[in-house]
Amino acid sequence: MIAVQGFEGRRVGVLGLGRSGLATCAALAAGGAIPCPWDDSPEGRARAEAAGFAPVDLTRAAGLEGLAALVTSPGIPHLYPAPHPVIGAALAAGIPVDNDIGLFFAALAHADEAPKIVCVTGSNGKSTTTALIAHLLAEAGRDVRMAGNIGTGVLSIDLPDEDGVVVLELSSYQTDLARTLAPDVAVFTNLSPDHLDRHGGMGGYFAAKARLFTQGAPERAVIGVDEAEGRFLAMQLAETPGDARVIRISSGQTLRGAGWSVFARKGFLAEWRNGKQVASIDLREIAGLPGAHNHQNACAAYAAVRSLGLAPRQIEAGLASFKGLPHRSQLVAERNGVKYVNDSKATNVDSAAKALQAFPRIRWIAGGLGKDGGIEALRPFLGSVVKAYMIGHSARAFALQLGDTPHEICETMERAVARAAAEAEPGDVVLLAPAAASFDQYADFEKRGEDFTARVRALT
Ligand code: ADP
Repeated sequence: MIAVQGFEGRRVGVLGLGRSGLATCAALAAGGAIPCPWDDSPEGRARAEAAGFAPVDLTRAAGLEGLAALVTSPGIPHLYPAPHPVIGAALAAGIPVDNDIGLFFAALAHADEAPKIVCVTGSNGKSTTTALIAHLLAEAGRDVRMAGNIGTGVLSIDLPDEDGVVVLELSSYQTDLARTLAPDVAVFTNLSPDHLDRHGGMGGYFAAKARLFTQGAPERAVIGVDEAEGRFLAMQLAETPGDARVIRISSGQTLRGAGWSVFARKGFLAEWRNGKQVASIDLREIAGLPGAHNHQNACAAYAAVRSLGLAPRQIEAGLASFKGLPHRSQLVAERNGVKYVNDSKATNVDSAAKALQAFPRIRWIAGGLGKDGGIEALRPFLGSVVKAYMIGHSARAFALQLGDTPHEICETMERAVARAAAEAEPGDVVLLAPAAASFDQYADFEKRGEDFTARVRALT
């Protein structure tokens, strides 16, 4: 655990008592502060009490009085669509509002010998890229910790020594609010509209992510330049066109200009510096990284670990042994020449579109709690779909948007897997990429992916 310094003997409000809120209470207490936890839900307050922290009602003026800071959880709106009342009151009273990421970087400033910190942000591919960077470093023998949005709260980790590396996945909510950001290497994967209500629109969303670079001033910035925002950010950060502090990455474009770049085309990753190719890796047979979207993640991870001193051949070996993350283009079984891929995390059309482009002959299991517009935007990507098997609440609505693509309404995962397996031919991929949320039938996307996996494994 990290002891948060700087608040000795002072009261610090902690709003939101999930895993990261409780870890924040413990880290504050370890540094000598007096945590004042609050959660609107009685369950949250009970969790704090069970962990030995008495709740303080921060919704009352008396609770906020004299707070040195208010630390909040990422799920709680701090500005848009409207600040949570406690945050609104803190802002009115001039109390600094921060999050665990800000506390982490502030704590690091007190450490004598700090490890390198790599931060990954972007709309899609954050978790995969974060896990891949950690895997590549671990395979190369480095002491690595992975935390942030990907699971472990950042204040729960023990810091490695100065030769080690901490890899953090950061959401836009986290980069927007953190008062201190000081990554050594920062990665921006890509940008597409998401969480716009929390950022007051696309400009606010981009600005929240760009803060990791403009405020954080990393030694090295790895920037995906496949959207205008990434190109803009790379331009802003580079002092000259050849500035090697910026590594531009792309999936699909050839980047051979001045400076440093890593790009993937037709299944091959290439590293270029100052107009010359330095290294190249064949990504086509790497089972854990299928599709152009994962090749983008591979480029981002390659660039990040390259700037931490790994050699191309070391990286190549690490990429080959990456198994992928559960529920993201995850190969769960192969039987009779048919592959079964779990991409339950494809909860929106954007990520489903990537999955549909990653394989040539797809038996597509989709549906759930559909989002605005349904799957209309997926029409250009249906060419690879041999047949669709529709499940969940949106099954019929989605089916109406499929045009000429053959389909069947299956309602349940059980039936969809059974039908797809019965009809699949060697070379087909049975792909769960729902393009919808899971909450109509499951507690979360993980449960949906586990159900798919269990049903596939039960096939005789
Ligand atoms: P995040 O942490 O940003 O949500 P994940 O790695 O968990 O990203 O992937 C989320 C979803 O997006 C999955 O369906 C995955 O297959 C897909 N995906 C992964 N990488 C990319 C990428 N670079 N671009 C677009 N979609 C991606």
